[in-house]
Amino acid sequence: MEGNANQKQLEQNSQQTKEPETMDVLESTRTVIQKALDKLGYPEEVYELMKDPLRMMTVRIPVRMDDGSTEIFTGYRAQHNDAVGPTKGGVRFHPEVTEDQVKALSIWMSLKAGIVDLPYGGGKGGIVCDPRNMSFRELERLSRGYVRSVSQIVGPTKDIPAPDVFTNSQIMAWMMDEYSRMQEFDSPGFITGKPIVLGGSHGRESATAKGVTICIKEAAKKKGIDIEGARVVVQGFGNAGSFLAKFMYDLGAKVIGISDAYGALYDPDGLDIDYLLDRRDSFGTVTNLFDDRITNRELLTLDTDILVPAAIQNQITAENVDDIQAGIVVEAANGPTTIEATQRLHERGILLVPDVLASAGGVTVSYFEWVQNNQGYYWTEEEVAEKLEEVIVKGFDNVYTIASSRRVDMRLAAYMVGVRKMAEASRFRGWI
Ligand code: GLU
Repeated sequence: MEGNANQKQLEQNSQQTKEPETMDVLESTRTVIQKALDKLGYPEEVYELMKDPLRMMTVRIPVRMDDGSTEIFTGYRAQHNDAVGPTKGGVRFHPEVTEDQVKALSIWMSLKAGIVDLPYGGGKGGIVCDPRNMSFRELERLSRGYVRSVSQIVGPTKDIPAPDVFTNSQIMAWMMDEYSRMQEFDSPGFITGKPIVLGGSHGRESATAKGVTICIKEAAKKKGIDIEGARVVVQGFGNAGSFLAKFMYDLGAKVIGISDAYGALYDPDGLDIDYLLDRRDSFGTVTNLFDDRITNRELLTLDTDILVPAAIQNQITAENVDDIQAGIVVEAANGPTTIEATQRLHERGILLVPDVLASAGGVTVSYFEWVQNNQGYYWTEEEVAEKLEEVIVKGFDNVYTIASSRRVDMRLAAYMVGVRKMAEASRFRGWI
């Protein structure tokens, strides 16, 4: 991959979660886990088991910089719970990575895997660094150094990393190469999100947006909304948001609003998404080319059938939730809706598909990649798409059924599905 292309993809990956989640994400995740376990009637010790990762490794990685100096980077790998199977989850490169954030994200991965019924527990990694200010070769040395530092606890049957914010297929390739050299055998199943030529899966890059699209279709069926002609608002035009806007546009929906970090565009007759994708610069920015912009805040409260927050956390809060006019809210970003706002949307009869379900497409296709690596036999793009649809529809149905039968919101229902699998596996193993 060219240096520029690499930088471009890194910038695009950053759009989805521009600011990292803060510590309250760990607190709010724990609150919902506790509620889910209470609803299911599990004793307190199950909560104690799940509130933190089983294993958390902190590493210090010395990297030789291009100017000859050495910089020491701090990295983490959290393994939340491996009762169900090996842990799985991305590695994030970001200046604001913290230990608590990595912990919370590893818990989310356990939930995602449980909700869509993958044979994994959750893991997550992160390095405190700013890849936008690092050269291609410095990034390579950092990626290889991270693998050497965490090599004792990761592996194709232990803990399988993947891309996350500011990491991409090139970084996965370096990490896979480093691990394979250390083990002295080719280990494509060590990591997912690799380039296709190194055992990557078709459909991995657009998998998150595909998963969101499948959730939108299922939610629309429940609400009696026809996707063709439905009004859609997408907040965020990064990796998830832009692929998603394109998928919805191609399905015949009217994408009436999109936004990026600079503002939002609105057209009640529908925006020309192909045109906007063409004009988008290498930072995933497009709204700055237009004078008649609205604010991100105004975008969220537009009268629309489907609203997709695909940017950053804490966008729908107690403050603006009563102004939301959508019939369906599908969370493509991590944590865009607060706990109070989730409750309020539920009371108002707005169907919210939570992040832990809506964004599970990425890890699902990562699972497919790992399966293909393990069997050494590869699937076509159509096969991957078909299997992804099956997995996400099943996950959606399970969550929707619990939400209806237990009269709880979809987030709590999703957590109930996710924690139950983990708790049952832990119980059979004799841990609780
Ligand atoms: N980082 C992605 C996520 O948060 C993907 C993880 C994976 O593919 O294992 O779901």
